[in-house]
Amino acid sequence: MSGNAIEVAVLAGDGIGPEVTEATLAVLEALGRRHALGLRFTPHRAGAMAYRDTGTDLSDEVFRACESADAILLGAMGWPGIRAADGTELAPQITLRQRLDLYAGIRPIRAIPGVPSPLADPRAGCIDCVILRESTEGLFWSKDRGTVTDDYVEETLRMTRSVTERLARRAFALAAKRRGRVTLVDKANVFRAFAWMRGIFAEEAKAHPEVAFDAAYVDAMALDLLRRPWEFDLLPTENMFGDILSDLAAGLIGGMGFAPSADVGDEHAVFQPSHGTAPDIAGQGIANPTAMILSAAMMLDWLGEAPMIEAAEELRRAVDRAFADGLRTRDIGGAHGTAEAGRRVIAALG
Ligand code: ATP
Repeated sequence: MSGNAIEVAVLAGDGIGPEVTEATLAVLEALGRRHALGLRFTPHRAGAMAYRDTGTDLSDEVFRACESADAILLGAMGWPGIRAADGTELAPQITLRQRLDLYAGIRPIRAIPGVPSPLADPRAGCIDCVILRESTEGLFWSKDRGTVTDDYVEETLRMTRSVTERLARRAFALAAKRRGRVTLVDKANVFRAFAWMRGIFAEEAKAHPEVAFDAAYVDAMALDLLRRPWEFDLLPTENMFGDILSDLAAGLIGGMGFAPSADVGDEHAVFQPSHGTAPDIAGQGIANPTAMILSAAMMLDWLGEAPMIEAAEELRRAVDRAFADGLRTRDIGGAHGTAEAGRRVIAALG
């Protein structure tokens, strides 16, 4: 930790990023006062608008500030009209994952009381699983590396033993603290790469007799996440599969506005909502800040000292209480905007 204060680098980013960040910082400041957390927030510029204005989406200076911070809190980055020279989206959040070795994308999917699910089954209220998305390799490894010619394109999936073993260790450690079940999501019936991945997870499973281990094909899991999502606990998976399944799973608990995430490595971590910059609603003050507020709770857990962990618990309870007491954001058909949602969570603290 840097000095007495705990340094949090804040990258609000683009689109609804700055809106949900402002609401989240207000909540964290109120929580910080209650628990004397000693957090210091330093804003930095990165993202598509930064690229437009300065020619770089993540400057060396900002990267170094992130690297030396105790934690990184990120809103959302990217903008449809602003692209890199090769036409791809600007995604400094992906650069951060790769450069800081943030291989474990932890994406909790938890039903919040009072938030409607598209599933009619009352058990939808018990959904509480975590998608553990490998975040540095898989098919995303090919980003900026693939071959594109007029006649064919080729993008390659790559997984390494070092990252896969660490992902497996992380999966079983997380599951041991939860309901004790790991279900690896893969495509081992078609690709040898995934049979290899299964082998690594099966090996790790031997060291955790307290955790039940099984595996499922990703296509079957897409169906089961609609049919019986309440049965799953910890779902580790490849990067691209995790990208897709985490949006699907977010839909089960009210949408992207309710899905937090943490990209964690052995040294560093970035906490950000699972959603993107939502250009369709940006600038209107109507984005739901819950995903980012819950990501901030994950950050407090990760910082790990006793007052932080208590504050994280209190923050999650406050979110639940705010919705149970009638908070209804626009994405679930209510009238409450971004700032009002933040105020209601602050009012529910304690
Ligand atoms: P990316 O590819 O950058 O991850 P995406 O394609 O998944 O982004 P999002 O920006 O996450 O797209 O938006 C998907 C949909 O969810 C949009 O209709 C958007 O308005 C909605 N959405 C995303 N985040 C929120 C939020 N915090 N509050 C309300 N609606 C949201």
